[in-house]
Amino acid sequence: MTETVLVARIKHETNTFSSLSTGRAEFESTSLFRGGEIVPEFRGTNTDLGGFLRVADEEGWEVVPTVAANATPGGVVTADALDAFVERLLAGIEESDPDAVLLGLHGAMVSERDRDGDGYILERVREAAGEDVPVMATLDLHANISDRMVDHADGLFGYDTYPHVDIGETGETAARAMAATLNGGLDPTIVVERAPLLPPLPVLQTADEPMASLLDAAGDAESAQVPDVSVFGGFAYADVPEAGFSVVGVTDESLADETRDDCAGIAAEADDRRHEFDRSYTSVAEAVEEASGWDATEGPLLLADIADNPGGGSAEDGTVILEALLEAGVEDVAVAAIYDPAAVDAAVEAGVGESLSVELGGHIEDNGDPISVDAYVRSLSDGTYRNQGPMSTGLQVSFERTAVLEIDGIDVIVGSHRQQPYDPEVFRSQGVTPERQRVLVLKSTVHYRAAFEPIAGTIREVSAPGLCSPDLSSFDYEQVQRPKYPLDGE
Ligand SMILES: [Zn+2]
Repeated sequence: MTETVLVARIKHETNTFSSLSTGRAEFESTSLFRGGEIVPEFRGTNTDLGGFLRVADEEGWEVVPTVAANATPGGVVTADALDAFVERLLAGIEESDPDAVLLGLHGAMVSERDRDGDGYILERVREAAGEDVPVMATLDLHANISDRMVDHADGLFGYDTYPHVDIGETGETAARAMAATLNGGLDPTIVVERAPLLPPLPVLQTADEPMASLLDAAGDAESAQVPDVSVFGGFAYADVPEAGFSVVGVTDESLADETRDDCAGIAAEADDRRHEFDRSYTSVAEAVEEASGWDATEGPLLLADIADNPGGGSAEDGTVILEALLEAGVEDVAVAAIYDPAAVDAAVEAGVGESLSVELGGHIEDNGDPISVDAYVRSLSDGTYRNQGPMSTGLQVSFERTAVLEIDGIDVIVGSHRQQPYDPEVFRSQGVTPERQRVLVLKSTVHYRAAFEPIAGTIREVSAPGLCSPDLSSFDYEQVQRPKYPLDGE
């Protein structure tokens, strides 16, 4: 008998401190595919859907693709957008009467429709599919796990890496657990244990402690009958009650008690080692001083603008580091990127090879003022490229209409759509060779490491203002359950 497996991808990491709301247009600009468009787009990619499709081919499933929607992290998702995606997903369930449902979710979506966006999707899917149809989802390592998500799913599978280089593998793990469930080899249930921690993004890198050992312990707790134990660092910039750290196991019902104990042990170890989540950062002044004298023989100095990361919902138009580099006269620098559609329009109007005066960046959040610059238009493009590095390999992303502006020896990629610059194609697609720069500035917190560590001479995590600032005391939390470390101290 051929099994029918319905697949969908509805993903958003919502930064509730952002002033930009996330509507349908934002999904259209980032990644939105429907029905028959989905399989050709995602087959062979290192994505959740890519992983589902690999296993579906092995198992001979009939795949029912419904919707694949992802938007650059930002403010709250509009009701209109979430309704449109959920309606398409539910219509697919109604029409195909599937044997199973596999979802690629994020786990930190906040919507006008429902503050617990992912819990809402899972609840609606469960209602439509019925209790007997297994429902499993992959989640980002930055998921905030609500009880409702656990109640309405049969499996929740988190990425084990940050940078997230195992998204496709996580999709395969979920799909294999689904195959075992469909053939009667697994009676899945989910256990969750939490720790009173709200770690900011940079400290969740999985190459560093304590995440490295916590993930090792999670791996040790897995077995044929416990297909996944995930460590979720949580997403500190979604001010929702469930924001924070959790450990989730997907286990055969017969091993639920043991798996719960294992998860509780990992959560307790994270709490015991809470001070290892403390970290110090490079100031803008220190970064500029180092950049001024940088000898790039061993590779460029990479300054990560960790707080203004659009991949965590920041505006990507912060100017503090760029302005300081310009003031210090640092040259041979490439910056990715500044989001400023009006500046791109002005560059298009001026044309390639012409010069113009613009007020660049600093228009959206409180992360630096617009800077008045005279810029030379080096190139104009549609800003689209396909990732070649280890993360989301093969996935197409876009800054949309894009200008490379040269300002006093600094090449700045200026885009019309917010996109995290984590793949070197961000430069190469614009005719800028990252290896030949003396200094690189990237608006990314951690993901750039996957592909840029081999290129960079040295990396500095620079603390400038932005909506992914590791200084959580700068945010006005109202809903998150307290106390949390480090927000409330000891
Ligand atoms: Zn993430």
